[in-house]
Amino acid sequence: MLNIAFIAHDRKKEDIVNFVIAYEHVFRGKKLYSTGTTGMRIMEATDLQIHRFLSGPLGGDQQIGALIAQNEMDLVLFFRDPLMAQPHEPDITALLRLCDVHGIPVATNLATAEILVRALDRGDFGWRELVESNKPGLG
Ligand code: PGA
Repeated sequence: MLNIAFIAHDRKKEDIVNFVIAYEHVFRGKKLYSTGTTGMRIMEATDLQIHRFLSGPLGGDQQIGALIAQNEMDLVLFFRDPLMAQPHEPDITALLRLCDVHGIPVATNLATAEILVRALDRGDFGWRELVESNKPGLG
């Protein structure tokens, strides 16, 4: 089963909620994760169940990063606010870096998220399912 993470900075939360409402049918049946507040907002507006980690500034990005490092995340939708300094900027940089280290599809704005989710809907993420089935055990 594909694993997807949602993260949105405060001024992008409304955008991500509307985005997930629009593509709820694509996200159904996937394993969903998020940072704390983002996930709460999405769950209030949809029927989706999301595993919520800590709020971003308290370590949520790092928790999602840990799953990426273990190759357990298949898609990251991260609606960033490019016009506001974030107290946890180092964590954000680390999360994006891990996506690049492990070759994980990551969108940092709505336009890219839309293209990736349409690709997901079309079945273009089959290669991630293969990665998952070939994954060696930890250790
Ligand atoms: P939040 O975290 O979903 O808990 O707000 C996201 C962030 O602001 O990094």
